[in-house]
Parts: sequence; C-alpha cells; structure tokens
Amino acid sequence: MPIETPTLTPTETTVSYTYILPIQPSKLAGFAEGGHPYPATDLFAPVGTKFVAVTNGVVDFVSYEDKWDPSVNDMSVACGLCVAIIGDDGVRNYGSHLSAIASGIKPRARVEAEQLPGLVGNTGNARTTLPHVHAVRSQHANNDNSHLKCASQECNIT
Ligand SMILES: [Zn+2]
Repeated sequence: MPIETPTLTPTETTVSYTYILPIQPSKLAGFAEGGHPYPATDLFAPVGTKFVAVTNGVVDFVSYEDKWDPSVNDMSVACGLCVAIIGDDGVRNYGSHLSAIASGIKPRARVEAEQLPGLVGNTGNARTTLPHVHAVRSQHANNDNSHLKCASQECNIT
C-alpha cells in the first residue's frame, strides 16, 4: 500500500501597519544637521505641538515629571517628560523633552496610531535648547532594558 506524502502549503498572511510621523501636523516638524552617534533623531517643533503615536501599540514607560537638575546632570532623568510605546510591529518608539503627557497615557495602556501621548516641549536637559522631541526607535526584542526608565541611548539626550 503506497504511503501518501503530505504536502504542506504555507499560509500567506499579510500584516500591515499604519505609520505616521510623530509630530502633527507634520508641516511643523523641523530637522537639524548633526545628530547623535546612535539611532536617534531630534524632531523640532513649537512647544505644544502634538507628539503622536507612530503606530498602534502599548505604552511601555512614562515619565510624568521633569526631575532633571542641571547641577546634578543625572542622565537617567535627562528625558524630562517622556513616553515609550512598543508598537504592534515590535519596534519601541520613544520620545522625550515633552511639555505635557496626555491623560490616560500610562504603562500597558493601548494606543492607536496618531493618538496623542503628549506635547512637544523642552523638559529635561533640553531646557536651554529649541523645543524638540528626541526620538528613538529600537527593536523591543533587543531592548532588555525596557524595565528601566529609559535605555542608555535614550538617556543620552538633547
Ligand atoms: Zn536628541
């Protein structure tokens, strides 16, 4: 009796994500020359401009208070007010120096793309710079510091 060899056909699954520039309206976003020696970008915009979720995800970390003191220069609190969101795509999006955190933004809260986590500002060690968001995108799977206030590259701010 012949033995049948099963044929496996992979199931095609298409997953798509919606992405949006975290500064809205995007025409208010500005970029400067220079940058950081690691994957981060400063997105300049007036204080109070909307800083929104890049894609759907879950809030990972929030700093509600600006605890940075220039005389101490503790880089672990250099972000001022900041938010980190782990997107459904597995990428962690972090933004710091915010002037306000929106109500309902707290760890484990679900956010949708374009939802407002906060407003652009210059808190933390950006208090003497132009208002901007220090934005960092990192692979969550590689970021085992997610339980900390911020990963080292996020803390090395301005
Ligand atoms: Zn920066």
